[in-house]
Amino acid sequence: MSKFWNQRTKRLRPYVPGEQPQDQRYIKLNTNENPAPPTPAVLKAMHAAVDDALNLYPDPECRLLKQSIADYYSLAVDCVFVGNGSDEVLAHIFAGLFNPDKPLVCPDISYSFYPVYARLYDIELRTIPLGEAFELDLREYPADNGGVIFANPNAPTSMAVPLDEIEAFLVRNTDSVVVVDEAYVDFGAQSCVELIARYPNLLVVQTLSKSRSLAGLRVGFALGDPALIEGLERVKNSFNSYPLDKVAQAGAIAAFEDVQGFEVAREEVVRIRRQAYLSLLTLGFDVLDSSANFLFARPLFLPAEQVYQGLKDAGVLVRYFNAPRISEYLRITIGTEQEMVVLVEKLNELKAGVMQS
Ligand code: PMP
Repeated sequence: MSKFWNQRTKRLRPYVPGEQPQDQRYIKLNTNENPAPPTPAVLKAMHAAVDDALNLYPDPECRLLKQSIADYYSLAVDCVFVGNGSDEVLAHIFAGLFNPDKPLVCPDISYSFYPVYARLYDIELRTIPLGEAFELDLREYPADNGGVIFANPNAPTSMAVPLDEIEAFLVRNTDSVVVVDEAYVDFGAQSCVELIARYPNLLVVQTLSKSRSLAGLRVGFALGDPALIEGLERVKNSFNSYPLDKVAQAGAIAAFEDVQGFEVAREEVVRIRRQAYLSLLTLGFDVLDSSANFLFARPLFLPAEQVYQGLKDAGVLVRYFNAPRISEYLRITIGTEQEMVVLVEKLNELKAGVMQS
């Protein structure tokens, strides 16, 4: 606390990202990164972008990147907004598209950045509890709201809502912006992109951080009706004209062009997820049905916090949330096959320790 902080800074409750300890090399299964490196085509494009023209600003409109994304999803280019990670895209949505005079509605268990942005932009949040089995039932969402946001698949639960349920909600909720955060959609959920043409209040947010192995590059985007996109451009151009540098734009364009590299990496995650799911069941975990690149699992042989700590001591980081309703669970990112073998080995050792004592 400093006397130079203004009231707004004092009130903030900043987001706490997954830990990145530097004391040793860990197997990192705690921040939902993709274990595969960027594909060779993407690396080549980024290297080529580091040239003697870096003294010049990048294209503030990111036209080529927007065109690549528009082509990929068969949309018009004015349906695409890009930002420095989807976190930044989300921030602009909170700042510019939610109506602060009414509560913003979101699930009680979801991406923990939503309440952070709500506080930053002075938006009241009304949370709707997920069901007993963490299912998200949009029929329970009130129609009178300043906006709606949820992640699909949801985080940290990993579960997805089917497209027809989202569409049924959009038919009913026409007066506020509905944001579907599809950070993990490529790993198995149905995307809402096809609904954009019919629902001018729908905004789909995606990222290159997960399925495209580019968390370090910081590129995210939103897809929606051109009027919504124009609103986001107004906010962006009142904040930072050049959020994506030249290297990021080049890498992101290459990532959308390298369809085969993307498919291979994504299928590998899904394959390893299936194996890891079965291994955790065998070990004695309750595991939710995942459509994402992580598993949300409850150890039955030891409290989750102790499993988290035991794994950390053994060099494996997973995510533990000491929060209501989910404190018995661990969120475990799908790593490489070898990393998951080590995870299972360490879990077996922890379990054997419990049996002996
Ligand atoms: N949405 C969800 C649901 C996430 O889990 C994350 C990653 N923490 C993000 C958005 C933001 O991802 P990024 O800023 O890397 O695009």
